[in-house]
Amino acid sequence: MLVNADFHIHSCFSSASSKDMLIKNMAPKAKLKGLQLLGTGDAFHPGWLDIIEESTTYLGDGIYESNGMDFVLTTEVEGKHRIHHVIIIPNIEIARELSDRLVSKNKLVDGRPRTNYSGAELLELVREYDCLIGPAHAFTPWTGMYKSYDSIYDCYEKKVDFVELGLSADTFMADRVSELKDFPFLTNSDAHSPWPHRLGREFNALEMEDISFSSIKYAIKHNKIKANYGLVPNLGKYHMTACIKCYKLIDPLVAKENKMKCGCGGRVKKGVDYRISEIADYAEPKHPDFRPKYVHLMPLAELISTVYDKGVTTKTVQGIWQKLVDSFGTEIDVLINSPICEIMNIDSKIAPAIESFRKGTINVIPGGGGKYGQILFDETPEPKKEAKPITLDDF
Ligand SMILES: [Zn+2]
Ligand SMILES: [Zn+2]
Repeated sequence: MLVNADFHIHSCFSSASSKDMLIKNMAPKAKLKGLQLLGTGDAFHPGWLDIIEESTTYLGDGIYESNGMDFVLTTEVEGKHRIHHVIIIPNIEIARELSDRLVSKNKLVDGRPRTNYSGAELLELVREYDCLIGPAHAFTPWTGMYKSYDSIYDCYEKKVDFVELGLSADTFMADRVSELKDFPFLTNSDAHSPWPHRLGREFNALEMEDISFSSIKYAIKHNKIKANYGLVPNLGKYHMTACIKCYKLIDPLVAKENKMKCGCGGRVKKGVDYRISEIADYAEPKHPDFRPKYVHLMPLAELISTVYDKGVTTKTVQGIWQKLVDSFGTEIDVLINSPICEIMNIDSKIAPAIESFRKGTINVIPGGGGKYGQILFDETPEPKKEAKPITLDDF
């Protein structure tokens, strides 16, 4: 069977995470997105493990169920050089043991624990426990593995189980790096809130015998990932090189000449787009035979928000989102599978937007410097001035 899985999210215990990131809120929201399997996130946090135990039923072989949603234990860990790693864990006993070895027992510790372990040391440690490990959002400029290393083997010394692409990259970008031809790619949401434009905004379709840790491991190790679903990469907040203070998009070469300082005095962060071009071996992607299709997504709530010119978490937008999802089953069905004429019957303003999303004719002002990209239709008013790329003349 094909299982839609999002392995990387955060609980209410992570910094900058919503207090609503609780199992009881995640489970119904994940179902409406079209997921069958969700990573718990933060599985080295003792308080979060208590909540998982209290609010789920253990189905065996690493799967914890709540309200019809299956969960597997996952976490993100910060290691040496502030690099982020994603770990998928066989069961709660192992999560507790690793948590004791890696993290303070203090329940106030961050859900995403900070450690000083190198990639290689972390890999050695978690392999003892049969966990799966790979770099989180591998190309991002603050905490992605490739910000510090030109090769994945310099970080881990051995082959990791997967590479998480992150919101600002896709398969077409990553397959320009020849060493990555040996790795399966994961696309996960890294959600910090259960809102439908965050949770499940990226996910993977895995071919599995059943939903269990053994089947997840088998699927990742034997190229049974059948599709990656992910944001159009220029919607990601680190896609382009940009200032982290005023969010101006800046030509990377100009930024380098100016020692990564913006005219406003802010720091400039290298975009994923440019970082990949630095480490790329090919001008065009060369996909290995096993590489699955990559399906580009845009959060439906953001499309609605753009069309109706209302905030994404407003009652209007969430009401329309709910109506569409109730009519067609899941967000993925609305975005990708349902006939436009049927969507037209529910909401005649949204149907053309979904059609133009499917045709790839929606414009995006690219994200960068920590600001998400912005969806734009032809009739949308002019973009805000600071989002325009600038040149040397602007200094
Ligand atoms: Zn991270
Ligand atoms: Zn600036």
